[in-house]
Amino acid sequence: MTRLIVADTVAQVRECVKAWKKEGLTVGLVPTMGYLHEGHASLVQKAREECDKVIASVFVNPTQFGPNEDLEAYPRDFERDCALLEACGADAVFHPVPSEMYAGDFSTWVDMQGLTAGLCGKTRPTHFRGVCTVVSKLFNIVTPDRAYFGQKDAQQLAVIRRMVRDLNIDVQVVGCPIVREEDGLAKSSRNTYLSATERQAALVLSRAVAQGRTLACEGEKDAARIVAEMRRVIEAEPMARIDYVEAVDADTIEPVERLSRDTLFAMAVYIGKTRLIDNFIVRTTEA
Ligand code: AMP
Repeated sequence: MTRLIVADTVAQVRECVKAWKKEGLTVGLVPTMGYLHEGHASLVQKAREECDKVIASVFVNPTQFGPNEDLEAYPRDFERDCALLEACGADAVFHPVPSEMYAGDFSTWVDMQGLTAGLCGKTRPTHFRGVCTVVSKLFNIVTPDRAYFGQKDAQQLAVIRRMVRDLNIDVQVVGCPIVREEDGLAKSSRNTYLSATERQAALVLSRAVAQGRTLACEGEKDAARIVAEMRRVIEAEPMARIDYVEAVDADTIEPVERLSRDTLFAMAVYIGKTRLIDNFIVRTTEA
């Protein structure tokens, strides 16, 4: 096993990547906020298969959190993250402090319209501005050939793909499937917030996904019917409070009435104070 290179500064990353590129090696980037689990590991493994060198970033990006969100409470364990990254075969990790990424007078933003207005963007109006800004900074710092993102954050994946297209960023965006716990709950760093009873209640999300997927597989084409059935499943759980359950076009995030293109069924649900997301895509084209 090669030893993981830990880079705290932009200059260290640049030096490292420059040496790799000089040897003609391809570079895969896996951006994360740390507190890594098997979902993140699956991205690193995919990058490992497709790229000569793999660099992950572990950075709890302050600009994607709203004023009343969980920035301070967000779980962190960098030592454990490094052990997991090394075990998955990552070559390097970029772990900057916030001031390395944001100078005191930082004033340039990547602010997307349209795709960011609905779903999570409705409840978290500045979230995707923070995501787009930090991801474009990471792309500029690392200059990866490929970058790996989870389908778990389906709107984020669509937003990154659009940003790369709109800004002609020279990177191939690779989407990776959702990794779940054995009982179906989508793996998330935020699952650590859940008490034992909340953890049980949280299963309504994956149950709603399963129910929605079954209806779609049976041939239901009316998106509102599928959404209504998913809502019914979630509303049966007293600890669950729906933020949204919606059917949208998987690329444009525009609302869908009938399933004719790739349709994303996405939800955000509060279990107690914890906001969890889950989704599935009904594909009408080859994945
Ligand atoms: P985060 O650390 O939550 O910002 O996530 C970093 C990356 O890992 C994002 O591209 C996420 O979509 C992806 N990811 C998080 N959880 C999962 C999961 N359960 N399955 C697959 N990818 C995931």
